[in-house]
Amino acid sequence: MYKKNAWKKYSDKKVVMDFSEGYKDFLSYSKTERLAVKKSVELLEKAGFKSIDSFDKLSQGDKVYVLNKHKNVAAFIIGKKPITDGMRILGAHIDSPRMDLKDNPFYESKEFAFLNTHYYGGIKKYQWVTIPLALHGVVCKKDGTTVDVNIGEDENDPVFGITDLLIHLSRNQLEKTADKVIDGEKLDLTFGNIPLDNDSKQPVKDNVLKIIKDKYDLEEEDFLSAEIEVVPAGKTRDYGIDRSMIAGYGHDDRCCAYSSLVAILDTKNPEYTSCCVLVDKEEIGSVGATGAQSLFFENTVAKLLTLTGEGHPLYNARIALENSKMLSSDVSAAYDPLYPEVNDPDNCAYFARGLVINKYTGARGKSGSNDAMPEFYAFVRKTLDDANVNWQSSELGKVDQGGGGTIAYILGNYNMNVIDAGIPVLSMHAPMEIISKVDLYEAYLGYKAFLKA
Ligand code: MN
Ligand code: MN
Repeated sequence: MYKKNAWKKYSDKKVVMDFSEGYKDFLSYSKTERLAVKKSVELLEKAGFKSIDSFDKLSQGDKVYVLNKHKNVAAFIIGKKPITDGMRILGAHIDSPRMDLKDNPFYESKEFAFLNTHYYGGIKKYQWVTIPLALHGVVCKKDGTTVDVNIGEDENDPVFGITDLLIHLSRNQLEKTADKVIDGEKLDLTFGNIPLDNDSKQPVKDNVLKIIKDKYDLEEEDFLSAEIEVVPAGKTRDYGIDRSMIAGYGHDDRCCAYSSLVAILDTKNPEYTSCCVLVDKEEIGSVGATGAQSLFFENTVAKLLTLTGEGHPLYNARIALENSKMLSSDVSAAYDPLYPEVNDPDNCAYFARGLVINKYTGARGKSGSNDAMPEFYAFVRKTLDDANVNWQSSELGKVDQGGGGTIAYILGNYNMNVIDAGIPVLSMHAPMEIISKVDLYEAYLGYKAFLKA
């Protein structure tokens, strides 16, 4: 079904361009899930949301957020109807593919100090070599303190990187298939080259550890209890001579996270309780305490019900979730005219045609997908059309071309109606991903309309 180009809706494009400026700041800052949560809480508090700890009871109109282990946050506006009538939920993930430092990352070879990494999520490894990389994260010490690490974003900071073989000596390397051309164990950062003047067998490693000790008061062993992410260095930028697009690291899925978050910030007096939940770990299966499979969300709804006084909180949390409706706000694969062969042109997402509805994702016969109810899809169509949102339908590539998943099926396990609704992305999971500004804006409009539906 052809949907018109969303730019045509705007004779004055300023509203779209202005919205994307806020997003560019958000994405430039939010290089990790912790930073995305920190920035989200900042925006929530600015809009009058308060931590659940500051409430003795909750009533209609209250704006509350619940933080989970610095890496996962849920925000709510209590609606006019009881929570057990169901909520309107926007759910997005804030983790993105990258490399993480290993437990014992430091080693030396031929007078180079290296940092050993293990990649996180699905990456084409050859895309991550010979680009400037930054380090972000935390190191937790035995004395209970946490040291924040942020190196490579300031223009005066050093950057890091992974080397690749020069073309002149690459005959054997270039005979390998693309998935083998860069070995996972070779994704190591060159980290230093000056030796300490000592008799040690690893004077360069000693020197980088001394620099770390002097600057952060950290021992090598402290990196056992650390979470240091290796991500592309630098800010999010406009893309294209017409500035129609945005280039940045981590659009998947921080573009849907941001537009969902701003949608709830801009919502007033909803009928049904509004919710925006931002989760971690989607890229590795939504596992763990801060992922979508965690009991955090169910427990949080039970806490809300305790504070609104709606009967048995645990039982009613299940009822509330079963009666809820959700948009799983996750990005979609955009049609790339350079690679038309991977898509069915009638069933794929195009840039600048707006919010993408994916009835199902999955692989090999929709396996692992949520496959939304058509009754619910009709409700979503009406909601978006009534609000004059530019939107399009899509599936993830041609049949048997590949596939992927989102958090939709996990919330679906609560017997909740869920459908995937997000922003099309070019070069998904690459260090530099691309989205369209107008798709970002239409997504925001769609999410806002859904919270009021
Ligand atoms: Mn995603
Ligand atoms: Mn992804």
